[in-house]
Amino acid sequence: MRRRIVLGVLIFAGALSISVAARQQGGAAPMVVTVDKIKDNFYVMKGGGGNSSVFITAEGVTVVDTKNPGWGQPLLEKIKSVTDKPIVRIINTHTHGDHVSGNVEFPASVEVIVHQNTAENMKEMRASTQTAPNGQPPNIFKANNGRGMPKKTFKDRMTIGTGADRIDLYYFGRGHTNGDAWVVFPALRAMHAGDIFSGKNIPGLDAVNGGSGLAIADTLTKAADTIKNIDTIITGHSTTMTVADLREYAQFNRDFANDVRAAKAAGKSAEETAKAWKIPAKYAGYATPTPIRLLQNVQVVFDELK
Ligand SMILES: [Zn+2]
Repeated sequence: MRRRIVLGVLIFAGALSISVAARQQGGAAPMVVTVDKIKDNFYVMKGGGGNSSVFITAEGVTVVDTKNPGWGQPLLEKIKSVTDKPIVRIINTHTHGDHVSGNVEFPASVEVIVHQNTAENMKEMRASTQTAPNGQPPNIFKANNGRGMPKKTFKDRMTIGTGADRIDLYYFGRGHTNGDAWVVFPALRAMHAGDIFSGKNIPGLDAVNGGSGLAIADTLTKAADTIKNIDTIITGHSTTMTVADLREYAQFNRDFANDVRAAKAAGKSAEETAKAWKIPAKYAGYATPTPIRLLQNVQVVFDELK
């Protein structure tokens, strides 16, 4: 009893200190954006959806991914706490609402750049394979008269700026969606991968938005082979990783596709396949998937094998 009271007081005190630090919206949970400083001019800001990268250069600030609806403002405030330079550009790694929705809260003058397939996907903002069971969310860009929509796109590659300020964008093929951009900061030896490498877990294979369980391993391998001189990879939702981690993740996805292919060839159903599949022992530290996510991924691969 006493322990419960002490614990309750601690939680209450913790909640108080968080709510003082953060802006609350409509009495909902506090909106806390945390900051990981990677370099003097490069930060990863976490919370409220996908990880956001903040790159500060002579001309201004580039932001990669802008989080869930309502999280643009807390992100903007956090950026202001590390620089007084203006924000000039947003790059969205892909179409999902937890990576693009904050766009609508940025000044309308901010340039938005995405892969050309992501630009098409953002016109629709369809519920993903993973979120479809929850229904179709409102299209945040239509609700904001198109504010935050991309005006510039790339197909395979694009370079922005030069020297220390340079940013390279790459597209290596389908994976999480059909528009996953790789955002490289050569001077920092860093790149932002987004949800095609969200962390050490099974990926979200969003077939609705062109994702592929058969292609993702090749796409990840191409990225690891093509982009040189990288020490730090910013994942979609986890900690930073290395190129060795990326190569391991590519193999993990290759193994998964092969396991599912073999099970289907042996006459197993998607349900039987998902029930029997476990994270292989050699992938220590990988998160155990929820049964729903696992079945979704098996089904995506099954559908591709038809
Ligand atoms: Zn995503």
